[in-house]
This record gives sequence, structure tokens and C-alpha cells, in this order.
Amino acid sequence: MPFVRDARRLAVVFGDQLDLESPALAALDKCRDAVFMAEADGETNYVWSSKMRIAVFFAAMRHFAEALRGAGFRVVYDALDVGSTKRSFSDALRACVESLGPEEIIAVHPGEWRVRRGLEELAREMDVPLRLVEDTHFLCSPEDFREWAAGRKSVRMEYFYREMRRRHGVLLKDDGSPVGGDWNYDKENRASFGKGGPGGDLPAPPRFRPDTTTRAVLRLVNGRFADHPGSCDDFNWPVTRKDALAALDAFIRDRLPIFGDFQDAMWTDEPFLYHSLLSAALNLKLLRPMEVIRAAEAAYAEGTAPLNAVEGFIRQILGWREYVRGIYWWKMPEYLKENALGADADLPDFYWTGDTGLACLRAAIGQTLRHGYAHHIQRLMVTGLYALLLGVRPRDVHEWYLAVYVDAVEWVELPNTLGMSQYADGGLMASKPYAATGKYIQRMSNYCADCPKNPAEATGDDACPFTTLYWDFLLRNEKRLRGNQRMSLQLRNLGRLSADRRTAIGKAADRLRGR
Ligand code: FAD
Ligand code: SF4
Repeated sequence: MPFVRDARRLAVVFGDQLDLESPALAALDKCRDAVFMAEADGETNYVWSSKMRIAVFFAAMRHFAEALRGAGFRVVYDALDVGSTKRSFSDALRACVESLGPEEIIAVHPGEWRVRRGLEELAREMDVPLRLVEDTHFLCSPEDFREWAAGRKSVRMEYFYREMRRRHGVLLKDDGSPVGGDWNYDKENRASFGKGGPGGDLPAPPRFRPDTTTRAVLRLVNGRFADHPGSCDDFNWPVTRKDALAALDAFIRDRLPIFGDFQDAMWTDEPFLYHSLLSAALNLKLLRPMEVIRAAEAAYAEGTAPLNAVEGFIRQILGWREYVRGIYWWKMPEYLKENALGADADLPDFYWTGDTGLACLRAAIGQTLRHGYAHHIQRLMVTGLYALLLGVRPRDVHEWYLAVYVDAVEWVELPNTLGMSQYADGGLMASKPYAATGKYIQRMSNYCADCPKNPAEATGDDACPFTTLYWDFLLRNEKRLRGNQRMSLQLRNLGRLSADRRTAIGKAADRLRGR
């Protein structure tokens, strides 16, 4: 452990709290207090984290420790190396508390229920007072969200988002009405690329060449976590505030103008398209949500990006991101156990390898394991959809998403997976399950052109598993979904299937599940 003697107060900084303006740091006396950070095996294998996810977190943490030292803080940074003995975050913190004897531990409210409970238990066990301070990174506190949600019949994101626009004065006219006249331009944001694809005009994302610190982390990950999924060979993520700001500038300039139109589109060998790739930088707290929102708003004001793109982008951050955090802290810890559809199938092994002949899954999982990234529709309507239709246990689906994405932190990942994608909360977040046949994927991508299966077929050798499982999903859940008005068209179509057809689909689905 690096040489820091005595500390009156110890600020614990977790890997997703890398903000020099954090209120926990503001409370410190730089001469008498200290900051504690640690790399821990426990945080890499409580879910079997991918190499890229571990590398992004550790690289950003090491750079942040350097920034803290540069700003005059005394830092205890407990680093792993390839051969050091295994330990948990609690073990590392316990050793630090024993050696420095602080009178108080201070931390920003952790982003995971599990981590908060662990910290509280450790402080109790060591008899050191713990002060948790509010996470000022976010624009809506858990208490504010609870108050907003209390007594509402429906807690849909759209109402929350309008409230947040008003509260923070975003994309509003002087009279408080929305700029452009509408709150939401989503219907303009669903174009596909058509046969020609995105063409050669796609702007390349900026390059972030690994420096000495990041290269040391990549060696550590390849040595110590060699059996973890995926690869970190193509590391290209911003892991400092300076690089995160450069990533933001590049997005606003190069990709935001087209972001809206093709927000839902997918294309083979084009993992990033017009997306911002800012989620990891935001979730590590290298970027602040309001600075990202204001940058997009300024692009609209200056006429460099259209309203459908700017509103669509801002809705993701001011709306969805804050909303899912509100849901998480409102519903945890019970939320983790939700399984409204009684799903009990295993997650297919190919989720960990990408080794499948199904072109859409191969593309989405392949780029996930290579880059730690897939965009929203790939997560929701390819990997998430397949797990939903197959009936995989939501907890297992959740653990996969938490393990493989560079932006995965439980407060944001869990509601997206359990609530939005798997409908496991029974409709708290989504008004109906995101269930679709392979034809949706065919419409929004070119994947089916490169696949031996046919999205129009539900049975037979060419049957697309999405299409088979879609009908099987409706058959299995018909009773549960019957009262949902928004499912009435889908269930009416189901009603038209003959008894023979239903039997054939059920058998084909069983074969897929058994495979
Ligand atoms: P863009 O498409 O450029 O969107 C801009 C920003 O909006 C993102 O950077 C992100 O901060 C925010 N955002 C967009 N959609 C959402 C959303 N649904 N919820 C919260 N924030 C959103 N996002 C995570 O940050 N971490 C996760 O672990 C995560 N897990 C997901 C799991 C599933 C099953 C699904 C369906 C979605 C998940 N998302 C998660 C949301 C979304 O897919 C990612 O935020 C997005 O793909 C990140 O890529 P980007 O930065 O290029 O986003
Ligand atoms: Fe995916 Fe089905 Fe299309 Fe193949 S045919 S790419 S499995 S949707």
C-alpha cells in the first residue's frame, strides 16, 4: 500500500465515481485527510466481467488517481498486479482503515445496492462512522423520483421526461412550451439504411490510443483475467476527463446531426454508426449529464443539428438515464428478484462466445465481446429480444448485460434489462413486452441477408428462431397478456393460428430451447 500516514477522514471513491468535483472530495482537508481507491478481484467476478469492461474501469480509475494526486490529494490506491493474491474490495478497505485509523469514512452514495450494503456493513463492523453524501452527478435524486412516482397510476418515462425538461429548462420556449411544438420526435427517428447501407460517409469515432497507464492495465487484464470473456485488444475508450470531453466534441460535431434519423438502424460490421459512445464516460462520471445536454442544445441553437436528433439524444440522457436510476433506487432490492413471466430457461452458451450461425446475434454479441459495446436497439431488439422470447431467467440475462458492457453499472443496467427488455417487472417500465418476429430485425438491418434463416418462416428448416419463438412466446403468455390493451392486435393475430400450426410452433420452439 502506498505511503500515507494517518488520516482524519477517509473518502472512499468507487470506480464509477471519477469526478474531481464530487461532494465527498469537496469535504476533505487535503493535508489531513486521504482518498481510498482499490482494484479488487471481487468486482471483476461477482459477475464474470468481460476483459474490456475490467480494462475500462481500471484504466479510468488509475488515471483518476493520478488526477487526484495532481490536485493535491493524498491517495491510497490499492492496485492489482498479475500475480498478487486475490482479494475483495472490503478486504482492501479494511486494511486501509486499520492502517490509517480515520475518525470517519465519507463516500458518495454508491451506484449499486450491493456496494452500499457492503460499505455500511464494513463501517459498522470496524466501528467507524460512515457519511454517505448525495450523488450530485444526477439531475433527479432518488427522493425526488419517489415523490414524483408516489400515487401515480402509471410511471411512464415520457411524463417524467417532460417534467425534467420543465424543471431544468431544456429545449423550452419562453412560455414553457417545448421547442418545435412537440415534446417527442421519436417517430422521425426510426429510419433504416435501406439496401445501400450507411455508405462511406460514416464518421469514424475518435481514436484514444492507450498511454503507458492504460497499457499497464491491458497487460494486467490479459494476464490476470485471461479466462474472462471477450478481448481488450481493440481498446479505444476515453478514460480521462480530457478524452471524454474530446469524445463529446467529436460526437456533437460529426454524428449528432444524423443520430436521430438512424438511431434504431443496425448494419453488419458497423458497430457504432451515429451513436455517441458516451455512456461509459457518463457512468464513470468523467462527463456530467448537464454539460452533455447543453452541448446538444447549443448545436440545435447554432443550426448544426436538427431538432429530431437533438431532442432524441437529450431524451436518452435527461429522460431515460435519470428515469431508470429513479426506478432502481425506488424498487431495490426486491427488483432483482422480479420474474413476472416465470421465465426459467438457461442463457445460451453462445452469449459468452458469439459462436452462433444466426447472423444478427453473431453481430451483436461479436461486437459486444470485442468492443464492450452494442447500441440500444442491438441490446433491446437482438440479444434482449432473443432471451425474452426464449424465456431465459431474468437474473441470468441481467448478469450477462452487467458483465459484458463497458457502461454497465447496476443502477442503469438492471431496469433496462429486467424492466424494459425482459418485462420481468410485469409492466412497471414498459407498457408491453418488446416482442417481435425476425421481420423487425430484417426491416432495421441487413443481418438477415447474411443468415441461413428466413425471418418470414416460423417452422421448417429455414425458420428464423426469432419468428418461431415470437409465436411460442405469445402462446405461452397468452393468459398473462390478455388484459393488456396494447397487446390486443398481437393476440388477435395469434387467435388466427390453427391448432395444428400452434402445435408445430410449440414443437419447433421446444427444439430450440433444448438445443
Ligand atoms: P446513445 O445512443 O448515443 O445515447 C446517448 C446516451 O443516452 C447514452 O450514452 C446513455 O447515457 C443514455 N441512454 C440511452 N438510452 C438509455 C437507456 N435506455 N437508459 C439509460 N441511459 C440511456 N446503458 C448504460 O449506460 N449502461 C448499461 O448497463 C445499459 N444496459 C442496457 C441493457 C439493455 C438490455 C438495454 C436495452 C439497454 C441498456 N442500456 C444501458 C441503455 C443503452 O442501450 C445504452 O445507454 C447505449 O446503448 C449506450 O450507447 P451510446 O453511449 O452510444 O448511446
Ligand atoms: Fe436474425 Fe432471423 Fe434475420 Fe437470421 S433470419 S439474422 S436469425 S432475424
